[in-house]
Amino acid sequence: MTTETENLCPICAFGPLRVGTSDHGERLNLTCPRCGKFTITQTVARTLDERQLATKLSAWIRNRNEQGAKIPEISTATIKNIIDCFPTLSVIDKQAILLEIFGRRSKYPGSSVSFDSNLDFPLIWGENANELDFHLRTLMARSLIQAGDQLKAAAGQGPPEYMLTAAGWSHLDEVNRPRSISTQAFVAMSFDTTLRSAWRKGIEPAIIRSGYRPFRTDAQPSLDRIDVQIMAEIKRSHLVVADVTLQRPGVYFEAGYAIGLGIPVYWCVRKDDLQNVHFDTRQYNHIVWENPDDLCVQLHDFIYAVSGPSTAI
Ligand SMILES: [Zn+2]
Repeated sequence: MTTETENLCPICAFGPLRVGTSDHGERLNLTCPRCGKFTITQTVARTLDERQLATKLSAWIRNRNEQGAKIPEISTATIKNIIDCFPTLSVIDKQAILLEIFGRRSKYPGSSVSFDSNLDFPLIWGENANELDFHLRTLMARSLIQAGDQLKAAAGQGPPEYMLTAAGWSHLDEVNRPRSISTQAFVAMSFDTTLRSAWRKGIEPAIIRSGYRPFRTDAQPSLDRIDVQIMAEIKRSHLVVADVTLQRPGVYFEAGYAIGLGIPVYWCVRKDDLQNVHFDTRQYNHIVWENPDDLCVQLHDFIYAVSGPSTAI
């Protein structure tokens, strides 16, 4: 049974909003103008006291909504994987994301796009409205956007509007030319909890130290559903790290897709699982690791030797 109450968003405190509850009041279903559509269990909502976590979770949900993914379900079962997927973004990364949103939302070159800073800052993984305003001002100073239709805003009919400049459009073109200037490293691996430290202490720091930005999806790699979003992320990555430990078919699929695109794949496997490595991929050199620290050192050295440090800006 679903009931409705008026409440503040349990993540970003926006409100009051109409909040639906199910599972005897344990699960909240809501649409927040800032975070987007999601469901969350009361148990997890109560643990969101850490401000940093709430801001990032809000950004994660909003970005999932923006990508048209299915409604995110936040529960004790999913929260750890979700937190693992929070990206570490530089100022330039955030401006690149903002520019991409401009590209997506512009109906045609010269059309205006508006942002409501107070509601839209999670789109760029921002802390608050001021941060989004800062990035908008900086994109203007970089001549990548300019003021758009000012009439509506002047008449008090909405937030300020902006449009991409010619330089902004060509910047987007260059970024979308895959790989050459991408710093993204796509990580394909099992989400099993026994591999958490392999990710946290092994793969993630190895990639960051090599100058790349690790990207791990929050979805378990699957063979029955080819996720278009995941394929797009692989396509725009400079390299792929595939850890085949636990032998998930989805990891092989994602790595195979990258090979087909000519993207270098770094194969890894935990020593005790080496004998199970799929026949077809035994021809590839695998990083055989025994613990996360050892994985970190080997992977970093391998990426550094083969792909070199990232030179993209
Ligand atoms: Zn919210």
